[in-house]
Amino acid sequence: MKRILQFARRFLLPHYTWLLASLLTGLITAAVSGLGVPLMVKYVFPVVFYSGSGEEPLLLQHVPALKELSATTILILACASMPLVFAIRGVAMWGNHVVVNILGLRILEGLRKTVFHHVQELPIAYLERRSKGDMVSRIVADTGNVQNVLSHVANDLVKQPITCICAFSAFFYLLFSSGSVEMVLALLFIALAAWPIISFGKKISARSKQAQAELGELNTVVQQNLETQREVRAYALEEREIEDFKSSSASYKRNIIKLVKYQRLIVPIMETCTGLALAVVLVMGHYSGMGLEDFMALALALFFTFDSMKRAGLAFNRMNEAQGALVRLEEVLNEQNPIADPASPVALPARVRGDIDFKNVTFEYEPGKPVLKEVNVHIPAGQIVGLVGPSGAGKTTFASLIPRFYEASAGSVCVDGIDVRDVMRHDLREHLAIVGQQALLFTGTIKENIALGRQGATDEQIATAASAAKVSAFLENQPRGIDTQLGQGGSGLSGGQRQRVAIARAFVKDAPILILDEATASLDAESEKEIQQELDSLAQGRTTLIVAHRFSTLRNAHRILVFDHGRIVGDGPHEELYACCPLYKELFDRQGAV
Ligand code: ADP
Repeated sequence: MKRILQFARRFLLPHYTWLLASLLTGLITAAVSGLGVPLMVKYVFPVVFYSGSGEEPLLLQHVPALKELSATTILILACASMPLVFAIRGVAMWGNHVVVNILGLRILEGLRKTVFHHVQELPIAYLERRSKGDMVSRIVADTGNVQNVLSHVANDLVKQPITCICAFSAFFYLLFSSGSVEMVLALLFIALAAWPIISFGKKISARSKQAQAELGELNTVVQQNLETQREVRAYALEEREIEDFKSSSASYKRNIIKLVKYQRLIVPIMETCTGLALAVVLVMGHYSGMGLEDFMALALALFFTFDSMKRAGLAFNRMNEAQGALVRLEEVLNEQNPIADPASPVALPARVRGDIDFKNVTFEYEPGKPVLKEVNVHIPAGQIVGLVGPSGAGKTTFASLIPRFYEASAGSVCVDGIDVRDVMRHDLREHLAIVGQQALLFTGTIKENIALGRQGATDEQIATAASAAKVSAFLENQPRGIDTQLGQGGSGLSGGQRQRVAIARAFVKDAPILILDEATASLDAESEKEIQQELDSLAQGRTTLIVAHRFSTLRNAHRILVFDHGRIVGDGPHEELYACCPLYKELFDRQGAV
């Protein structure tokens, strides 16, 4: 409950005008339903059926002026009140529905924006640990679930109790005015009806959390399957994938069925209680000689009392259902990025020189398991440095500390002598370009993908970059040249072509520091050879770190750092290392030639 109130304060209150509109329309609906309908039955119906003899209807007794009117006018007025009451109720219900939906969509927008924004701030390590499908589920489905509850429940938890109070008041008023006070016994069933609302709450919230997690699991299965279609087909894993999907889908279904059963169990219980209460009123009404209009009015007031209680109960259940999604969203929103921007950042010059220093740097992904151990190295501006070593030695981790994707556990990483922790992350990354193993392209045109390298890049800069990266060479075969639309991840281009677009992006960025992390590892020998030239020209004049899996990519390196178990065990040019560093010699000989 506390949790939902916190979320309500944060995401519901900012839309207070819509909230007020929804409450107002809800109130009108509630008042017209709870009071209007029963009172109409008691006062208006008897006027219509009054034949002129016998006891005068109450409305005529209370409003003598009506007697001045002709019987036909009274009939018309009385009849007109019926559609009027229902029209007011209908319009208010419609308005309420529309307003609640607008309110809901605004909440959803705010909620998703906040969560998505927060995800952009989360540590890369956190996101790497999480399954993507589950994260998608949190950002899209859990937010939807919470929104649904915030908007509808905010409405129902006000509207229904007020309907209930109005109907309840009408019931009491009618009881006292008819003198059948003993019928209050019928209300005993209210206590009985309240029981399922309270007792199922906990079960519902537990089931709901499980169901949301299972939905995340299902998303993961689908996402993973779509991302690995080539492997799935090549290794004939379709059956296994279908089984995985079936099992995730079945456990989600089982949970939802249980959830729905608990959630709606309130309906038969409340309906039975309503029936019992009506039966009590009927029996007592019979023995007390009550008239039909009194009975009908009482029955309606009672019906609306129970009906609004039922709806309030369902809203309460919905609130419990949202607990699961709330917990999952809180898990994301409460996660803080330890790599925060400094309170008083140091401003970097418009263009850094590109000196890099690692001073006693130790880094561990998991406590107690250092991946880099007391690394000390100075890389002067403009130097092209190769990073080699066995797989898992710490090369990529080393390079990742410069853009501050991770934070050094001890020691410091400096650019131009300034500790990267003292600089705004965004500022720091302005001075870096990275070309990774897989060229990650976005949906959009080739031109847009290149332009991502620099905000406000001109057409000329894009064209120069495209030509330097030899993107221009394959544009002729593209249907719309540089404006050819790419699918997700750059589908429509070959691996080499994608890598060229990524290189062009780095050219456009024109950053003084360049990190090439196995940039040609996924390419065939032919494409690698071709792209190597573009990479060489990109590296010219920049401090360049080349995480290399093939020594052929290091032919222009001024210097090579040899990593082993998180330490630098060799540092120097090729000839020197080949002569003095056994690990380097071994790695090099295994590959053959430069
Ligand atoms: P290299 O680039 O030399 O192959 P890495 O820097 O990628 O090595 O990895 C160094 C070590 O850190 C490896 O043992 C690897 O398993 C571990 N490692 C890499 N990334 C992560 C991560 N995100 N979380 C935990 N451990 C990691």
